[in-house]
Amino acid sequence: MMATNGKHACGFKEAVSVSSNGNKEDFAKSQNGTETEPSKMRNGGRVPPERFTFSPRPTIEDIRRMQAEFTDERDWNKFHQPRNLLMAMVGEVGEVAELFQWRGEVAEGLPDWTEPEREQLAHELSDVFIYLVELAEKCRVDLPQAVIRKMALNRLKYPASKVHGSAKKYTEYTD
Ligand SMILES: [Mg+2]
Repeated sequence: MMATNGKHACGFKEAVSVSSNGNKEDFAKSQNGTETEPSKMRNGGRVPPERFTFSPRPTIEDIRRMQAEFTDERDWNKFHQPRNLLMAMVGEVGEVAELFQWRGEVAEGLPDWTEPEREQLAHELSDVFIYLVELAEKCRVDLPQAVIRKMALNRLKYPASKVHGSAKKYTEYTD
């Protein structure tokens, strides 16, 4: 009961970027207000490996609209109340977990996965994301703006100068 489109990404870059060119490194710099070079932000000053990026389209609003059209066409809105959407999303998270089950640790980029396995993962992650977007819509949460507000709070809670390289929870830090 879900439409997926594994070829398209979620549009996070557009949603959170505050730089004119959408560059994530510029984003990091402008968010923390320092002149820290991106290459010095990780790996002790070494240049980080090239990072994977999403396509700029569709945006989160595009995805909200696509899913709204999908449900309208099928008269499924009567089933898509917030609690039902939450349950559906959690079910889809379980489907993602199934793909990782019994594999042990998996390296970034999933080098040992077959193309069909990667496509299945793309489908299930899309299911999770589509339900998340619809849940936010039905709860009247403007998700792109909410992400910006939450990331600002996360930066306050976890100042890079204090937590660099540590996985401690914020309650474990002392001034
Ligand atoms: Mg699924």
